[in-house]
Amino acid sequence: MARDYYGTLGVSKNATPDEIKRAYRKLARQLHPDVNPNEEARFKEVTAAYEVLSDPKKRQVVDLGGDPLESGGGGGMRDPFAGFGLGDIMDAFFGAGGGGGRGPRSRVQPGSDALIRLSMTLEECAAGASRELTVDTAILCDRCVGSGCADGSSPVRCDTCGGRGEVQSVQRSFLGQVVTARPCPVCRGLGEVIPDPCQQCAGEGRVRSRRTISVQIPAGVAEGMRVRLAGQGEVGPGGGPAGDLYVEVEEVPHEVFERDGANLHCSVRIPMTTAALGAVLPLQTLDGEEELEIEPGTQPNTELVLTGRGMPRLRSSGRIDGRGDLHVHLEVVTPTKLDARQAELLRELAVSRGEDEPTLAHNGKGGGGLFSRLRSGRNHR
Ligand SMILES: [Zn+2]
Ligand SMILES: [Zn+2]
Repeated sequence: MARDYYGTLGVSKNATPDEIKRAYRKLARQLHPDVNPNEEARFKEVTAAYEVLSDPKKRQVVDLGGDPLESGGGGGMRDPFAGFGLGDIMDAFFGAGGGGGRGPRSRVQPGSDALIRLSMTLEECAAGASRELTVDTAILCDRCVGSGCADGSSPVRCDTCGGRGEVQSVQRSFLGQVVTARPCPVCRGLGEVIPDPCQQCAGEGRVRSRRTISVQIPAGVAEGMRVRLAGQGEVGPGGGPAGDLYVEVEEVPHEVFERDGANLHCSVRIPMTTAALGAVLPLQTLDGEEELEIEPGTQPNTELVLTGRGMPRLRSSGRIDGRGDLHVHLEVVTPTKLDARQAELLRELAVSRGEDEPTLAHNGKGGGGLFSRLRSGRNHR
């Protein structure tokens, strides 16, 4: 039975990494053994849940119904601190944006994710595509390797805040002394300054750069789907680890096929005579030219289904699970401009079919009536 890691942290299944971190930080502050020795068991549980959910690979195992801490047999709770750097926990406690953090903040910060959109035709979505993309992100400064310092120099303690990263001001009020702390304006809370910045990155430790990367988009993707390229996003301040790059598919509408998940729909027009007599007509599909068989006596709004001629069905696991169908909607076109000879032929036909003095025939109220046809018609779009 897999443990409910989301429940342990009190977050929803689609919580962002940031929400998970915030939830953990809040619980850990209440449950930490230094604060609350009676809650050590719960603290371990909460920490294990954070360890799992903050690791994208482990989180995926959970989302697929598994339990990443269960693997390797043995059972029972693994020591949550094993293989989990204390830095990660401290980071969760006092990390950037935590508020109330003590001491200078680190100059090295993780980089953010980047997103680029990739326009793809329906054919490319069906077959998958390999593309060269030009991306413009921050990369590590190769001159100072992230330190931000010119050759041979190093950061020095900030004089203004004495290295604490914050400055305090004391004000007297009718409540007594009020001490307020704010980030040091000189070092921006870092506690140190770079006296001789690297000339290539001006002390940032990273530089913007345009580069070309190749990306493989799997078959079956659709509008809005994202492919994640780990570590290809922005390098952080101070040369911090790069975020991820997401490539989002932008599907170009096709001029013939309309897509509904894995199924495709198209509409074709056939002459009334073809509908009556039947024919085999060529139809261009994603797989090339196919034969579309029109039965003699085909009615307007008939839908023909070509099984397996739709889009690949891409599962969330990344596997392809067969293909959808192609639905061909037949529109029967009644001739409008008849010359004398054609009109004569049709009149002759009407006489021979006893239709020369037509009357209106009601369709009846049973199955196959107007309303059920309207309803089923609506389902097709
Ligand atoms: Zn540099
Ligand atoms: Zn300072």
